[in-house]
Amino acid sequence: MRVRDLTITDRQLAILRRECNVGGELEGACQVLCGSSNLHEDPWADRHFCMEPELRLTVHRPEPLPSDRVRAGNVSVSWDMDCYVSLMRKAREEGLHPGICHSHPRAGSPFSHQDDGNEDHLRDLLQRRNRGGEQVLISILFRGETRVDARVWRSAGSPQTVPVRVLGRELVECSQPSHVREVRADSSFLQRQALAVGSDTVEQLQRFRIGVVGCGGTGSAVVTLLARLGVGRLLLIDPDTVAETNLNRLHGSTRQDVVDRKLKVQVLKGWVDSMGLGTRVAVCQAPLANAVTAKLLRSCDVVFGCTDDHLGRLILNRMAYFYLLPVIDMGLSIDPNCQDRPAQVAGRVTILRPGNTCLLCRGVISPRRAREQGLRHKRPEEYGRQEKEGYIAGSDTPTPAVGTFTTETATAAVNELLAAVAGLRGPKGWASERTIRYDLDRCRPTGCTPRDGCSLCYSSDNWGIGDVKPFLDLGGL
Ligand SMILES: [Zn+2]
Ligand SMILES: [Zn+2]
Repeated sequence: MRVRDLTITDRQLAILRRECNVGGELEGACQVLCGSSNLHEDPWADRHFCMEPELRLTVHRPEPLPSDRVRAGNVSVSWDMDCYVSLMRKAREEGLHPGICHSHPRAGSPFSHQDDGNEDHLRDLLQRRNRGGEQVLISILFRGETRVDARVWRSAGSPQTVPVRVLGRELVECSQPSHVREVRADSSFLQRQALAVGSDTVEQLQRFRIGVVGCGGTGSAVVTLLARLGVGRLLLIDPDTVAETNLNRLHGSTRQDVVDRKLKVQVLKGWVDSMGLGTRVAVCQAPLANAVTAKLLRSCDVVFGCTDDHLGRLILNRMAYFYLLPVIDMGLSIDPNCQDRPAQVAGRVTILRPGNTCLLCRGVISPRRAREQGLRHKRPEEYGRQEKEGYIAGSDTPTPAVGTFTTETATAAVNELLAAVAGLRGPKGWASERTIRYDLDRCRPTGCTPRDGCSLCYSSDNWGIGDVKPFLDLGGL
């Protein structure tokens, strides 16, 4: 099984760098436990083509070594074997992968022959202990002050080099993922963009696989903008067909689509295909509440949340932390003019990632509405009965929407992605949340701290844990 990449948060990276004495004269070491997602389906592959399963790794938690168990020199570092034995045991018990990290003070020194021999021995030990397990041994090397290399051992003598992604205030590819290079031949339409944000950013966008959940007013604008930015692959998820009342804001749609009862995802795929810019579009018309659908998003590098659905948001909210998968969630709320006060029009863009406050703690998701939508999805008759008896709080009355506001909110969301990859705002990177008040002519970051004990954003217990049973530790999905 091939390993596609290894993702680590900026906080985890800071711990590993400190433990490995990066910047010092002596080498240093640390251990780490990683989660993984097992990808068996490639949303962009031809249906007849069976994908070779791929593994994506995410750092779950650093396991620092007690200082009296480490022996560090200028050109070598070693630590007590029982620390590694205990790491293997934890990995087996928790369904995780063990990893070791060390540093070379000089940037010019790659993995040494001695590293090769030691790691192959540790790999052998892992496979003997956890016989029949699918575990891999991960090795991370800090070279000099800045460089990070990673590789994975599955079989004797032949480690696989793995690209490293750092998720924090920015979204950084630490090492060039050569095997997923997808720079397209005809990229001249991106020339002016390269002048603005640099060709590295243009190439990173071309490699990106981006999920868009919800293809309505904001979603269709996001899809249009991402295709013009040159994003390589898009995965569109939405179960709905185009309705007459969507035509004021749904980019790419026509009145004929309403007559033909076309799915929104099909309309948008046709729209992007007709641009001829080379973006590959995969679609899924099943709701996100199907675990199979949600699992497809594990193939993505970034996800845009453009749904009004509380259950859908609840799922994206968990995926961001479990899979270190950044989610750019957005919403628009319009309170029309009343007699005693003017209208309030607010667009919201929230970046979900470890280190930021989640949507539950921000009060964006109503757990009750999410439960009700879950019931409607799983047991529609029971939902109907409860609705009749007045137990259902939410209603599906149409909410106000204007195409200019949905489009501007979508633009603000896509600009956050640019802030994260192109460094447009310097080290500040992307905002945690940004609110645009169209009635007040104001756009500002909005802060919010995690609620005590939140298992997603307050504690790091689920960060990077990857695949668990049940999926996302949510029964009933
Ligand atoms: Zn070494
Ligand atoms: Zn939270």
